[in-house]
Amino acid sequence: MRMSWAPLLETQERAVKTIKNSIKKDRLAHAYIFEGPRGTGKTAVAKETAKAFLCLEAIDGEACGQCRNCRRIDSGNHPDVHVIQPDGQSIKIDQIRALQKEFAYQGMESNKKVYIIEHADRMTVQAANSLLKFLEEPVSQSIALLLTEQVHRLLETIRSRAQLLSFSSLPPGKLEDLLMGENVSPAMAKMAAALTSDTSEALEICREEWFAQARDKVIQLTEELRKRPDYALVTLQENWLSFFKEKEQLASGLNLLLIWYRDLLSIHLSETERVVFSDQLQALEQQALYLSQRRIGDSMLAILSAQKKLGSNMNPAMAMEQLVLQLQEG
Ligand SMILES: [Zn+2]
Repeated sequence: MRMSWAPLLETQERAVKTIKNSIKKDRLAHAYIFEGPRGTGKTAVAKETAKAFLCLEAIDGEACGQCRNCRRIDSGNHPDVHVIQPDGQSIKIDQIRALQKEFAYQGMESNKKVYIIEHADRMTVQAANSLLKFLEEPVSQSIALLLTEQVHRLLETIRSRAQLLSFSSLPPGKLEDLLMGENVSPAMAKMAAALTSDTSEALEICREEWFAQARDKVIQLTEELRKRPDYALVTLQENWLSFFKEKEQLASGLNLLLIWYRDLLSIHLSETERVVFSDQLQALEQQALYLSQRRIGDSMLAILSAQKKLGSNMNPAMAMEQLVLQLQEG
C-alpha cells in the first residue's frame, strides 16, 4: 500500500485528507490557501500535493515517490513546479509577472502546473492584484498553493477565490509521541515539546548534541544551588558562561532553567505528569521540599527579568551573576 501521505496525515489529518481525496477524485480546486503557524507542515504538504498531482504512477491520490516527476520534485527542480518566496521583505509584482509568463506556455511535460507561493501574505498590493487576475482566469490544469502564517493579511478578494485549509500546531503530547517515534528519549522529547510547537524545530533540538549538554548544565547549576549554594557562582563562571557563549545560547539556557522552576511548581501542585525534566523527578522533589510556592514564583520572575536584561543588552555575565544571587536567597 502507498504511504506517501502517512507522516503528514498523522499531524494534519484534516488538510491532508481533503487534498488527497480531491486528487483521487480529480476534483482539486484551482487554488488553496494553507494557513497556520510556522512548523505545521504547510511546505511539506504543498510538496506532497505537487507530487501526487504530477506523479506518473499515482494511485488513489498517493504519489509513487520513485518516478521521474516525483524524484525531480523531491530535488526541487521540476520544470512545472514553481516556488515563489519573498525577495527580501516582500513578494514583488515582477515575481508574479514572471510566473504568469511561465504559465502562458504549455507545461513542459504535460499541461499540469503547480505554483507554490510561500509567505503569500508578503505580496505587495500590486503583486496581489496581479495574482488575482491569474486566479480569476485559471489555466485549466494548474493549481496554486498559497502558504501563510497570517491569513488575515491576504486580500479578501484572494481569500474568496481559494479554498482555505487550516494547519494547527500539534498538542505537546502528540509532538512528544512523534519525537519518540523518531527514537528520541522520553526526557528529551518532553523538553523539545516544551521549548517549541514547531515539529521540525523540535526534531532539530533533539538531534543537536548541544541541547542535551545544555540540559545537563542546567541540571548541574540547580544541583549546586540546592547542595552547595556558595559554589553556584563558581559553577556559573566555570561551567555556564563558557558553555552558553552566544546570547542566543544563553537565552536557551535560561528557557531551560525556567522550565526547571516550572517543574518545581508542578510538583508543589501535585501535577507530576506535567514535569518536563521527567528523569530528574527525585532531585526536583527534594528541592521542592525546601522551596515554597512563593519562592519558586519569585525565582521564575527573576529568570524572566534576566531574560529581559539580556534582551536590552546588559552584560551577560553581570545579568547571570545577579540572577544566581537571587536564586541563592531563601
Ligand atoms: Zn511518482
